[in-house]
Amino acid sequence: MTNSYVKLCVFCNIALEKIPSEKIFSDEIVFAFKDINPVAKTHLLIIPKKHYSKISEIKDNQTYLLGHIIKIASKLAIKNKISKTGYRLIFNQGKDAGQEVDHLHCHLIGGSKLSSLNQNNNLE
Ligand code: 5GP
Ligand code: ZN
Repeated sequence: MTNSYVKLCVFCNIALEKIPSEKIFSDEIVFAFKDINPVAKTHLLIIPKKHYSKISEIKDNQTYLLGHIIKIASKLAIKNKISKTGYRLIFNQGKDAGQEVDHLHCHLIGGSKLSSLNQNNNLE
């Protein structure tokens, strides 16, 4: 007998709406919600409903998923009226980037002037 039980992570459970979140958008592929600890006026997370732990897990024939995430992020930026003023999309991978949640996610951050990418980078 095979064990079909698969442990779901926190973002899997958010996408299934088993853990509550401030839902912004959902389709058959992605789920978008407000980050619980926003770093700017607008801070949304766009995640695939299917679990991938990080961007390097995406195979060559699955790149449509990344395009879809980015397209949805761009539409949500328009909806949130930050498309003209600007925003940043971030995929963190691994410990140097500070990835906390091991379920692929795209941060959509904007609504105020963001810090330069040149700041706080240790080049040693
Ligand atoms: P990472 O550092 O992994 O790229 O970002 C993970 C993000 O997920 C963080 O910005 C954190 O605030 C957010 N986050 C972690 N747990 C939860 C949660 O349970 N609900 C929501 N809405 N956001 C979460
Ligand atoms: Zn997951």
